[in-house]
Amino acid sequence: MKIILLGAPGAGKGTVAKLLTDYDGSVQISTGDILRGAVKAGTELGKKAKAYMDSGDLVPDQLIMELMKERLAEPDCQQGFILDGFPRTIPQAEALKGLMDELRIRLDFVVSLEVPRDVILDRLTTRRTCSNSDCQEIYNIKSNPPLPDGTCKKCGSPTIQRDDETEAAIQYRLETYAKKTSPLIEFYQKEGLLKQFASLNSKDTVEAVKKQLQA
Ligand code: AMP
Repeated sequence: MKIILLGAPGAGKGTVAKLLTDYDGSVQISTGDILRGAVKAGTELGKKAKAYMDSGDLVPDQLIMELMKERLAEPDCQQGFILDGFPRTIPQAEALKGLMDELRIRLDFVVSLEVPRDVILDRLTTRRTCSNSDCQEIYNIKSNPPLPDGTCKKCGSPTIQRDDETEAAIQYRLETYAKKTSPLIEFYQKEGLLKQFASLNSKDTVEAVKKQLQA
């Protein structure tokens, strides 16, 4: 499959993307995971991105496009990909369109995950993420907790609350989403690619996306 996942922070893009990779071997490409890995490794990209990320701001489009041009040209993308957290702005969506034409790739469709705001706020404040940058498994202290000592069930590393998941940063990320990312819904509607899914339960959403892929 070749799809984009759109949705507010906390809408479940990461969880849905991970479940979808099991379907046909498509790779999950999360710009957030790549950036967090770069920050942890202390690379040039990480140094440039850190302050934006900590405050809940978007990283500049140019940095994101440089990163994605390289990533989408890697051989593992040929089988298929699930774009999780990219594009996040109209300029990124336009640049992606040009890049897809260049690479002769056709998207299947764009999945918009629709989740009420109160559910999103609750999810974000209860979310924990594995601190191992090669794992980054996502947990929720209410519905899917890590081990009782707070470590990751998959790799045993400590799970953490992300710096951008404080109340203030969450508020700011949601405002940034409304201002800069939500216009993509109209953009992809006009492109004839948008499919909207009410998404309260990730597993149900994954089944609905699979059905759409088979249609
Ligand atoms: P995420 O894990 O997708 O919520 O991303 C975490 C943070 O990484 C965001 O709040 C942004 O600072 C940055 N980020 C991730 N993807 C993008 C993108 N496509 N454009 C700009 N910034 C991004």
